[in-house]
Amino acid sequence: MRPFYPIVIIGAGMAGLAAANTLSGNGYEILIIDENDHIGGQLLRTRDPIQPGGWSPDPMKSIGFDLIKRLKTAKDITVMPRAEVLGILPDRRLLVHTMDRPDTCKEIRAGRLILATGARERYLPFPGWTLPGVMSLGAAQILMKHHGVLPAADTLIAGSSPLMMVLAAELLANGGKVAGLADEKGMKDKAAFLPFLRHHWPKLLEGGWYTGRMIMGRVNQYPRTRVITATGNGRFKTTVLASIDPKGRIIPGTEMEIQAGALTVGYGFAPNIELGVQAGCRTGYKPSLGGWVLETPHSRYETSVPGIYAAGEPTGVGGAKKSWIDGRLAAMGILKSDGKVPAARHKQRFDATRAHLRRQAEHQLAYAGFLNRLTALPDAAYTTIPDETLICRCEAVTMGDIRKRITQGFDTPAVLKKATRCGMGRCQGRICGPVTQDIIRVLTANKPDAPATGTRARVPVKPVPAAALFSSKENNR
Ligand SMILES: Cc1cc2nc3c(=O)[nH]c(=O)nc-3n(C[C@H](O)[C@H](O)[C@H](O)COP(=O)(O)OP(=O)(O)OC[C@H]3O[C@@H](n4cnc5c(N)ncnc54)[C@H](O)[C@@H]3O)c2cc1C
Repeated sequence: MRPFYPIVIIGAGMAGLAAANTLSGNGYEILIIDENDHIGGQLLRTRDPIQPGGWSPDPMKSIGFDLIKRLKTAKDITVMPRAEVLGILPDRRLLVHTMDRPDTCKEIRAGRLILATGARERYLPFPGWTLPGVMSLGAAQILMKHHGVLPAADTLIAGSSPLMMVLAAELLANGGKVAGLADEKGMKDKAAFLPFLRHHWPKLLEGGWYTGRMIMGRVNQYPRTRVITATGNGRFKTTVLASIDPKGRIIPGTEMEIQAGALTVGYGFAPNIELGVQAGCRTGYKPSLGGWVLETPHSRYETSVPGIYAAGEPTGVGGAKKSWIDGRLAAMGILKSDGKVPAARHKQRFDATRAHLRRQAEHQLAYAGFLNRLTALPDAAYTTIPDETLICRCEAVTMGDIRKRITQGFDTPAVLKKATRCGMGRCQGRICGPVTQDIIRVLTANKPDAPATGTRARVPVKPVPAAALFSSKENNR
């Protein structure tokens, strides 16, 4: 591994892959860093029942597997898997921790840096959500698609995410049973998709395919239903579900018990922006894009810090197609500013493709608005969290602690963190961060000067042995 690369891309998902492939062949040495041991990010995993060359209801999968194939033969692209970027130091120097040498960190300087770090799942805590056997939708996918293991013989799926149907189909395809699908949203919420039909009709076919799969698999569906509690003796066994009214309030008397081997939950996604925040990139709060995002004011993909670009979910949660388009456009922005499209004939084609992609990006942003509205939870979902519920599982901070501190005026993520240690534990707020921001937003909504601030991020953005940090020259200084 060299100490300098003209282009470094953090994240080997759809956005990172698309950016690398677009830049390849233009005289750059490109490095892609990803913490996973596979290339493909969240969408493309090795044991996917839909394999390269096979049919998938999601056309982005075959595009993605093709990108991986091309990337593997490109001589100017180096992939560094099992390596996490812990921080961005001045002058685009990256502090990188490789899992093969866990006690050391190395510094790699980037000429240009593309942040394609994806998103993380959002949670809605309920009593019992920390029991073994309760997991996120993504965790269940990773178990199956990466390790070849079902979460349990029968799995209950709950939340507000469109990923629930994808997971149900994957469980069935892998020989598992689905004990039921409890959806926060109903048909009326989903019908809000209709105005987007013209530009996104493949999504309708995809949704139809998943619905058909669930009918054939005889999956019981519970619309407008929320998980109230999960219980079990040392391991998840039973959940109580209840119907909710249009304002998201629980309807008393509708509670029902369901038993299953595992409970998987998911409430949409929050952009992974810590590295950008840490590098000083400007952020903005955009609920229609999934919450706090990296703003890319200059030519849309360069952040407020020159030389640092952002593509895919850190700029807004909108699905694989948005990430694919973003990655290509970010790369084209770099090519353009470096004058890499000199010949007139090529230039014309380049400009036409770029203009076409920009129009498509606009459609994807509109679709992102629908997606994030669909997964967003009503205020009542947060105000009714019982006091004894753990919010920060690393530091054992409860909803009661948070309520009390917010009432006392600790009502920004930064001061609440200091007052309660919420987000200071091993996961560094990766799990509780987005939900804590939502709780603050909802509990301070009646204050006219309600503070709207995101969290800060410091090196290291991921947990790492102290010895590794001190192995770096910069940190020793
Ligand atoms: C858990 C999960 C499961 C999902 N499953 C599906 C699905 O089945 N179908 C679907 O259509 N959509 C799924 N999505 C949504 C999916 O993320 C988008 O559709 C799209 O593929 C995102 O592409 P991306 O390139 O922007 O990000 P990603 O695919 O998330 O890629 C980002 C990559 O960056 C890496 N990374 C982040 N930070 C660092 C760091 N500091 N150092 C090193 N590497 C880093 C991550 O490990 C990841 O591999 C899922 C999302 C999540 C969070």
